[in-house]
Amino acid sequence: MHDVLIVGGGPVGLFLAGELALSGCSVLLLERDREIGSPLKALPLGLRGLTAGSAEAFYRRGLLAAMVRASGADENQVGAAPDAVEAPAPRNVSHFAGMGLDAADIDTSALPRRLPSPVGEGFMTSLEAVSAVLSAWAAELGVEIIRGVPVTAVRQDDEAVVATAGGQEYRARWLVGCDGGRSAVRELAGFDFVGTDPLFTGYVARVTFADPQQLPLGFNLTPRGMYLRTPFEGHLGLMDFDGGGFDRSTPLTREHLQAVLRRITDTDVTLTDVHLASSFTDRAMQATTYRKGHVLLAGDAAHIHSPLGGQGLNLGIGDAVNLGWKLAATVHGHAPDGLLDTYTGERHPVGASVLDWSRAQVATMKPGPNAPALRRLVHDLMSTAGGTTHVYRMTSGLFDRYDLGNGNPLVGRTAPDFRFEDGTRLGDLLRQGQGVALDFSGDRAMQVIAEGWAGRVRYAAGQVREDLGYRALLIRPDGIVAWAAEDAPDLDEFARSTAHWFGSPEN
Ligand SMILES: Cc1cc2nc3c(=O)[nH]c(=O)nc-3n(C[C@H](O)[C@H](O)[C@H](O)COP(=O)(O)OP(=O)(O)OC[C@H]3O[C@@H](n4cnc5c(N)ncnc54)[C@H](O)[C@@H]3O)c2cc1C
Repeated sequence: MHDVLIVGGGPVGLFLAGELALSGCSVLLLERDREIGSPLKALPLGLRGLTAGSAEAFYRRGLLAAMVRASGADENQVGAAPDAVEAPAPRNVSHFAGMGLDAADIDTSALPRRLPSPVGEGFMTSLEAVSAVLSAWAAELGVEIIRGVPVTAVRQDDEAVVATAGGQEYRARWLVGCDGGRSAVRELAGFDFVGTDPLFTGYVARVTFADPQQLPLGFNLTPRGMYLRTPFEGHLGLMDFDGGGFDRSTPLTREHLQAVLRRITDTDVTLTDVHLASSFTDRAMQATTYRKGHVLLAGDAAHIHSPLGGQGLNLGIGDAVNLGWKLAATVHGHAPDGLLDTYTGERHPVGASVLDWSRAQVATMKPGPNAPALRRLVHDLMSTAGGTTHVYRMTSGLFDRYDLGNGNPLVGRTAPDFRFEDGTRLGDLLRQGQGVALDFSGDRAMQVIAEGWAGRVRYAAGQVREDLGYRALLIRPDGIVAWAAEDAPDLDEFARSTAHWFGSPEN
């Protein structure tokens, strides 16, 4: 019997599988599709934006360079120069409902200070590229991956969770549904999934236009919806405010797409061919809890929303990195009481906020008299430094803060990439998926205590190039600051905090 069974080998399932295997769990992953790639996952339809937050998660597992290479992005454009002293100014930042941010307006003094790291501001990639890198990593770490097996039943008994796929039963101590927005696991395990109904049907397609000059490139809002043309030839996006009425069980024909496109653009533009197309909606729903007994959800299985602002994949990567070490500690029997439930506690509010962010964008685009007024207001606010900084804070993936019940401004946030004088960075120390005790105090008094958690927490001491006023920190395996001392570290407090996150010490 495996420790963990993961259903769904999209990016979230694969990343979680790797995280668990890195922490010593035996993992079986069952994936419905036979192949990793497909035309819908490759460029241009599979185009996805990774935020700095996701890039950072990959960096901390040594996967960033492979991710950037697979994406085709320019490696020199992604991160800071290795020896940079200051974090680079924000660039390549996102948009709100198609309204772009001017990176020059971001007030970095109003944001928690960053240290230079290879992460940069994120980059564009494809679902296929991300999945290929994560699949190779998971397999290298010993995850058993079986493709072409859709899971059709899930049950829990006293000893195991049992999934049925292809007429065969698979047993594990824990099961995580990472099987996407129409998750079978969510349904079969009886999770409540609540939220708001859709206002529009969206389409992405690769088409041939007879007369492309009728449609300008970029994000174009019209009184009837929105269309997007990207620099990829024939790549088209559409939003049709039909109440989400398109029946996805019917074929998506050239005639249908052309009718929608003509209505939205108010032109007689002609599609001579539709090579590939798919549809989605802005239905925004979230599981009320991410855990039921020994079954958990992550990624789109736990939350769905419109792709506006490109956040779903990033949200799912955040789920995986938050859940992996907590579930592994539970499997190994050293998790403190309640640790696993902090997964829902921490990630549910982040998911709810992303759902609201996507709803707010839809509200500014809806045909009718109110949305343009709202849009003008948002546009005006986004033209101020405060507004731009807020949107950047909400979308970069670097400034979320979990409420860990500690007033220190760094606790609950992702840790800056501290760099020791020998060049070792925090990102290097996190690579094996352990926690890290950082000691800049000079007296190494924390070392003996930290050794009680050997194998779970790494101890690293020395001078760092820039300590941001801290003498010691405890970093969780997901890179979140769990405890921080600005003065000489209180050793009892350090021990208590370590036990709070990592369980009882060995000795
Ligand atoms: C047009 C569009 C643009 C987007 N752009 C962005 C963007 O720029 N940035 C961003 O962050 N997000 C974006 N997203 C959202 C993003 O693609 C998803 O949030 C992300 O793919 C979710 O990953 P996942 O692993 O949770 O689910 P999925 O990628 O859906 O993977 C689920 C996997 O589970 C498998 N599966 C399903 N059912 C079963 C079963 N019963 N048994 C076994 N396996 C099963 C599927 O085959 C699939 O491989 C976009 C979405 C769309 C539609």
